[in-house]
Amino acid sequence: MACMGNFQPLSTLRSFSYMDRYNGDIRFDNIYISTYFCQIDERRRKLGRRTLLPLRKAEKKTVIFPYGPTIQASEMRNVVRELMGTLPVLLLLLVLCGLDWALYSTFDTIRHHSFLQYSFHSSHRLEVKVGGDSMLARLLRKTVGALNTSSETMVESNNMPCLPQPVCLNARAYLRTGLPVGLLVCLCLLQAFGYRLRRVIAAFYFPKREKKRVLFLYNELLRKRAAFTKLRRAAIIRQARQQRAPRHHLTDILHHRCPLLRPWLRRRCVVCQAPETPESYVCLTPDCEAVYCRSCWDDMRQRCPVCTPREELSSSACSDSNDDATYAE
Ligand SMILES: [Zn+2]
Ligand SMILES: [Zn+2]
Repeated sequence: MACMGNFQPLSTLRSFSYMDRYNGDIRFDNIYISTYFCQIDERRRKLGRRTLLPLRKAEKKTVIFPYGPTIQASEMRNVVRELMGTLPVLLLLLVLCGLDWALYSTFDTIRHHSFLQYSFHSSHRLEVKVGGDSMLARLLRKTVGALNTSSETMVESNNMPCLPQPVCLNARAYLRTGLPVGLLVCLCLLQAFGYRLRRVIAAFYFPKREKKRVLFLYNELLRKRAAFTKLRRAAIIRQARQQRAPRHHLTDILHHRCPLLRPWLRRRCVVCQAPETPESYVCLTPDCEAVYCRSCWDDMRQRCPVCTPREELSSSACSDSNDDATYAE
């Protein structure tokens, strides 16, 4: 009860602090691709503006899809931290169970191999027969006859009471000890969904704030994607050169002739490193042949940064930045 008493103010405090930061810091816990986010994207698509969905592979790692049934990359860190917290309990349980089993088997071996049984059997019989009918004979019979004894001793003994009597833990006991720890691990995994719920509850009470936050996230992602494309140009050119250099004619011939070997010889998108698919775009410039996956090709505004001259690119980048300025409202 005392524990519950301590728990209650703590959880209240934490929920108030979450609410405070939710309203005060627009970047705090603002990583959810909510329904409103999708609505903004849909609206922009209809207006013919740049859209974000579907997100690129690198972007997916930084956000959370609240309806996704699995634990996502950005939640993984929290989950791992929680699981690390349960690790000492889990280890202790394992050590205790192992120790119990080791002690049981040691004592059981001792009991089996130290069991001793004594069986002692002795008997003796002394009988003096004095024959005759004389007085002396009668006297002797009376005196010596008293010495006639017979005894039979039978002693059976074993050391059973001195041996250890170990009792093995049954399956029920193992279940009873393992169940709470299993429950703890399950709760750690479910915690990720609990964290998603915090945002839902806060959004329910502060719908205006939620809209502002989603808009901010959308614009931030738009900005990041535009910057990513521009900043990555040098890296893309390097990647394309790298990909072209070690490719021998033999590899190309094999790639064209042997469909079976293709999965191993597949070229990769110079931007995101995704393997080449039939939808991939291959630059038509004879010496370039850089590969782009469909979404990266759209991000590059359908201009190959590898073979397009720098001036032409920078002029197009200028027009891009004008377009990028039209953020979601
Ligand atoms: Zn790509
Ligand atoms: Zn090209």
